[in-house]
Amino acid sequence: MKKRFIVLGVFALVIIGLYSQRANIAATLLQRGLEAQMGANIVDDLEDGLHLALCGAGGPMPAPKASGPCVAVVAGTKLFIVDAGTDGVRNLLRMGYQPGTLQGVFLTHFHSDHIDGLGEVATIRWAGGEFLEPLPVYGPTGVEQIVAGFNTAYAQDFTYRHAHHGDLVAPMSAAGLKAMPFTTPPVDTLAVVYEADGLKVEALAVNHLPVEPAVGYRFTYKGRSLLITGDTTKDANIQKFSEGIDLLVHEALAPNLVAMMHEAAKARDNALMTKITYDIPDYHASPVDAAETARDAGVGHLLYYHIVPPLVLPGQQLLFLDGAEKIFPDYTIGEDGVSFTLPANSDEIHLTRSGL
Ligand SMILES: [Zn+2]
Ligand SMILES: [Zn+2]
Repeated sequence: MKKRFIVLGVFALVIIGLYSQRANIAATLLQRGLEAQMGANIVDDLEDGLHLALCGAGGPMPAPKASGPCVAVVAGTKLFIVDAGTDGVRNLLRMGYQPGTLQGVFLTHFHSDHIDGLGEVATIRWAGGEFLEPLPVYGPTGVEQIVAGFNTAYAQDFTYRHAHHGDLVAPMSAAGLKAMPFTTPPVDTLAVVYEADGLKVEALAVNHLPVEPAVGYRFTYKGRSLLITGDTTKDANIQKFSEGIDLLVHEALAPNLVAMMHEAAKARDNALMTKITYDIPDYHASPVDAAETARDAGVGHLLYYHIVPPLVLPGQQLLFLDGAEKIFPDYTIGEDGVSFTLPANSDEIHLTRSGL
């Protein structure tokens, strides 16, 4: 008994000692962590291949593990993102990517949730990199207007940061965005919108009416391929150009869950939400739609993203899938941080990260 008191007493003293030194301990750990983090780039540790990371797995609604739509693609050592939803660039940093190395952004369409992070992507890339040119933003015709608007909105910020940090950190020549417009290809046709260092990026038309233009992107690098749909209904054009690809990253809205929101809104006499929840299913694909496309195209793996509505309860994922898991069993439900690696010239598909 006495022995136990002595042990407990020593233990308590150690805890008190550590607690009284907590600031010093934190400072030491922080110093080591900062030195390890400073300049580190996760891309340096990746094998040669095509890599994908969800910097934002959600749609427009706030969700705990699903920020606004943002998909990072690394081909070899080159980093790109598709869409620039809220918090995308911050999630890139949390995963260890360096936005200062970002080669370009590909926009699928101009809905607000896909472009609202553009200004911060450009700013953090500008201040964190060595580029002397603005961030290229590839998109269908109309992207010029988006880019001009952001550049106008951030013009004062450009001058503040240049005045404060100078040319080393914030050269005026690299401030902001540069539009790289292309014509949306007709159905059954692909348009090459980027080609360099073994990577080919092709745009394809998708159906998000009345939103037009709306495109998806197919990335091909050293025998590996992935396709990111953007927002769309179930679409034969996506199936056609997904034939045999390794990874299909398909948007998904669960009509059964949105119908529950619709009923709840009606019950609370919330006219706005009643109307919105009635409107949105008709220009998105359900998980069952995405699974059928994946099955019929014979893809390697299906990653659901642009998850609507937010999945916040245990068990809700099964409600979300609503049978899609039986149609195409090789799937992952996206959340922020989920990452895949497709090693060059192989048929392997590795899930390398399951969250942030
Ligand atoms: Zn969207
Ligand atoms: Zn949309």
